[in-house]
Amino acid sequence: MVDKNCIFCKIAREEIKQEKVAENNSFFAVRDIKPTAPGHTLVISKKHYVTLLDIPSKLAKDMIDLIKKVSSDLLDEKYGDGFNIIMNNLSVAGQIVMHAHVHVIPRKEDDGLRFVTKVKN
Ligand code: 5GP
Ligand code: ZN
Repeated sequence: MVDKNCIFCKIAREEIKQEKVAENNSFFAVRDIKPTAPGHTLVISKKHYVTLLDIPSKLAKDMIDLIKKVSSDLLDEKYGDGFNIIMNNLSVAGQIVMHAHVHVIPRKEDDGLRFVTKVKN
């Protein structure tokens, strides 16, 4: 399960070199190239799945374990005092790279960020 034109597959296979800040059997983590906040990290599946729905449920533990490790490291390293976990699924939801990934975004008081959950009533 590799898409030869996919940027995240290329990073997974180390065809493009980017520092992996953490990894396990099924997922790896890299800092986002255009961070929303310092420490913004992507947890990416090693195989080419497009959305959450394509990720086999048997990989759920690997996925949550790596999200937790990255989040906990970001807090320990003082990138933030809290964090948001965001996953964009398909283009209407803001997914640009069509290879499943989860954003971990460190948060600080008055950092000016706001993640909209509801645009209007
Ligand atoms: P999406 O909108 O698909 O959820 O977000 C894709 C994210 O991937 C964006 O935040 C973008 O900055 C990041 N990104 C795109 N290309 C690369 C890359 O080559 N390396 C890394 N580390 N991040 C990338
Ligand atoms: Zn891919």
